[in-house]
Amino acid sequence: MTPRVIFLGGLGRSGTTLLERLLGELPGVAPLGEVVHLWERGVLAGEPCGCGRAFPACPFWRQVGEKAFGGWTPGLAGRVMALRRRVDRTRRLGRAHADLPEYVRAYRLLYEAAAGVAGAGLVVDSSKHASLAYCLLEGGLDPHIVQVVREPRAVAHSWGRTVERPENGRPMTRWGPVRTAVHWTAQNLALELLARRGARVTRIRYEDLVAAPGDTLGALAGELGLPPSRLPFLHGTTAHLTTAHTASGNPMRFGAGPIELSRDDTWRHGLPRRRQSLVAALTWPLRARYGYGSAT
Ligand SMILES: [Zn+2]
Repeated sequence: MTPRVIFLGGLGRSGTTLLERLLGELPGVAPLGEVVHLWERGVLAGEPCGCGRAFPACPFWRQVGEKAFGGWTPGLAGRVMALRRRVDRTRRLGRAHADLPEYVRAYRLLYEAAAGVAGAGLVVDSSKHASLAYCLLEGGLDPHIVQVVREPRAVAHSWGRTVERPENGRPMTRWGPVRTAVHWTAQNLALELLARRGARVTRIRYEDLVAAPGDTLGALAGELGLPPSRLPFLHGTTAHLTTAHTASGNPMRFGAGPIELSRDDTWRHGLPRRRQSLVAALTWPLRARYGYGSAT
């Protein structure tokens, strides 16, 4: 049986990994990480799972691979990556491709197997790209999309920083303010377009999540149709996280134990004023619609 799929969308550095980890603490929910990158980074490169083991050595993913595909192979990963290049592109949004059913079938098999191995009725894919959400929708998977938005100047500051990838010690991709602003707008507009095409899209703001995690997560769980839960892993703004088998994603997917949720406002001093103004202008008026004010 196909599990219900929660797809976390938005631009990177907007809090999707944090939200995925919090959702993963709810009963019956299995967080999978950014499945879009699993084929290359997990299967081909053998990068670590969120549990710390290399992807090929993680017992969870090994079972998922066996169940879904009779095992992970470079041929399978290469095929899905080739399909992705043809089918799953932002510029193709709204235009179905003949290879779309085969591409979506790989995701369907993976989600089904992961739900089965985890004993969960609901899986979370934090791949973020609106183009993949569109493919899943067109392929009949009916994901519930959660659009995570964050103040674009904070997002731009984060994309401008040098951060090392724990997976291989190399720096994460860096973007300048203009590129970040353009992508922030494009991804968010694309997710809104999906809502207009009939997708279920729930929007949450990173700032609300870290300011009032219990209220925000409780309301979201209700929207997702999850039974009311006491959220025992949350104490005020402290979250007690357990290990999750997330295949790829932000460094925040590693580690377990208590973490303090606090809003990162370092952009106010760290991002030069001219860059703040540039990002603010380029992301207007969407930014205001999401409640990030009119001040530049
Ligand atoms: Zn694992």
